[in-house]
Parts: sequence; C-alpha cells; structure tokens
Amino acid sequence: MLLRDSYAEINLGAIAHNIKLAQRLGNGEKIMAVVKANAYGHGLTAVLDTMIACGIDLFGVATLSEAVAISEKFSRVDVMILGHTPDAYLNVVNERDIIQTVFSLNQCKVLNSLAKPTRVHIKVDSGFHRLGFAPNQKAINDIKAINALPNIELEGIFSHLALGERADDIAQYELFTKFLRELENDGLTFRYRHICDSISYTRYPEYRMNMVRLGAWLFGMKSRDQAELDLIESLSLKSYISHISEVKLGEGVGYDYLFRAKRDMRVATIPIGYADGYPRNMSNGGYVIIDGRPAAVTGVINMDQMMVSLLDHPNTKVGDPVTIYGADDGLPIGKIAEIAKTNKNEIMCRLTPRVPRIYR
Ligand SMILES: *Cc1c(COP(=O)(O)O)cnc(C)c1O
Repeated sequence: MLLRDSYAEINLGAIAHNIKLAQRLGNGEKIMAVVKANAYGHGLTAVLDTMIACGIDLFGVATLSEAVAISEKFSRVDVMILGHTPDAYLNVVNERDIIQTVFSLNQCKVLNSLAKPTRVHIKVDSGFHRLGFAPNQKAINDIKAINALPNIELEGIFSHLALGERADDIAQYELFTKFLRELENDGLTFRYRHICDSISYTRYPEYRMNMVRLGAWLFGMKSRDQAELDLIESLSLKSYISHISEVKLGEGVGYDYLFRAKRDMRVATIPIGYADGYPRNMSNGGYVIIDGRPAAVTGVINMDQMMVSLLDHPNTKVGDPVTIYGADDGLPIGKIAEIAKTNKNEIMCRLTPRVPRIYR
C-alpha cells in the first residue's frame, strides 16, 4: 500500500536497456553493477532481480550493511564491498562470503585468522587519496605478504580515477599499470584488474582492463561527453496537488513569506519536501511539471510539502498529477542537480525511505 500521494516511479525496463547497452559496447569485460546507497535510491530487490535477469552476477556496494542486505536476499551472486570494513566486523564478511576491498596487511591478517578463506581485491591509491596502498616498495612487500596468507584469496586489484583533467587521469592510469607490472615482475598476478567507472567506461575505453564498475550508467545518468549515448533514465518522482490557495497581490507564501505575490494568483501545494529527499535549495529557481508545463516553486521547500505558482496553469485543479522530476516529462535529473548545485547521483540517492517506490 502506498498510503500517500507522492511516489518514485522506477522504470526497470530502462535499467535492463542500460545494462544491455553496456554489454553491447563491451569487449567481454566483467561488469560489476554498483548498487550502493539502496541502488542509487531505487530500492534493492526489484532492481537486483532485473539486473540478475540481464546476466549480472557481481554487485558492488560501499558498506558491510549494504552487502549483508544483498547476501540475505540473493545468495547466488557475488557482492563486493568497495569501502573500508572495520576489523571488528570482518568476521561477518567472512561468514557471508563477501568480497572485501583491502589496503593494509593488518586487515588481511585479521581476515586470515577467520574460519575460511576470504576473497579480497587490493585497492591502490593512484592519486585520488581516498583509500588504497600508495604504490611503492613497501606496498609490494605487504602485498607479497598478503599473498602468502593461506586464508586470503587474492582475487583482484583496482584503483579509481579522479576524472578531472585528462592529463591527471592518464598519470593515474600509468601509475596503476606501472605498479601492476612491478607486482607481476615479483610473480604477483590478479584474476581481475579494474579502474573504470561509468564515465571512464566510454571516456577511456582503453582502460577497461578485464572488469568495469558501473553505477550511474545503469540508471541512465550520462556525463557531458556521453550525451550521444542511448541511456534511459530509470527514476522519476511524482505526486498530486493536495490543495490550491488563492493568494492576493502582496500576500506571502510559506516560511518567512519568502515569496510575495506580485499579482493575484493561485498557488498549489504538493505533499513532498526535503524530508523526502527533494533538495531544499530548489527554493530558488526550482520548478515542477504540471500538465506538461513548468510551475515555479514559490517560497522555500518545507520538510514535507512545497508550494508552486499556478500563474501559467489556469485550469489546474486539486488532485491533478505533478512531475517533481522525470526525463519523460522534460525534467531530467540533471536539470534538478544543476538547479540544486549538486550532482545527479546525489539527487537519486538522497530519496528517503518515506517515498514509496513503484516499479514498472
Ligand atoms: C560508486 C563507485 C563506482 C560507481 O561509480 P559511478 O560513477 O556511479 O559509475 C565505481 N567505483 C567505486 C570505487 C565507487 O565507489
């Protein structure tokens, strides 16, 4: 039961389409579907069912809690934690056969002390300075020591690009591959090597190695240089008008009367607010789509509701549908991100549990 008028509409066909496009453009690299943050706000179960039906069998998440949520429902797929897991919880990683990112010998010693082997991927810091071994001689010694631990299955090695200047990306890639060659000279090879995310998948196809980690792509989010790609956005946010107020010239709307009517007008209330994950800074310049046309936000976004101008909507009435965002209705998530001064991923993953998800 929805029990409310606002909902996120998830287009599972779009997700399947986007996966197939990635598979078609690929050269047989293994695709890790990155589904952290509740599958970028979409909700896990239906999305993973769809992805598995498309042949995906490896999922990337940020945290152990996310990995556990997947392993409880989907026992036949692999899950890899891309972030740090505190030593105190590594036993859960081990029990559930989760693949763990590692970047210290100590972490691996803790894992090695557990009941059975654990699969790990080494993270290399090629310049991002977030996580990873600095690629130096000490790291080589540590990785050799890790390789010698009987309960550690050294399955992969990876790094992550900053994606600012092209020259910096090239330098990161060169540093990573040079490090791989040094390891190889010491007899250390890895089944999986990876550095590409969604943007670099097409910006640097020559960097795909034999695995790629795609997140935003799967949900139809394109970078500027992917404008020509046939990706379809999978998420839209919809509601219905709950009330219409008559506002006279000079009267205010909402907190602080931040909006004041410059003429007699109607204002529609929509039951969605920042507690649903709609950015509060849509207060300035934000708009929704009603009857195919934009309706400007009036005043601030409230916790649970917002108000919009009906100056251009003389016939709109209570109960009419509203698109808060949705590419099909001409308001793609990229536009929301631009107005809210953030990125598209944040718009998607900030959707809170209070918003029911409807799958189509
Ligand atoms: C989130 C994440 C990805 C996926 O990034 P997208 O830009 O959404 O494709 C890939 N790799 C790592 C390490 C990540 O944390």
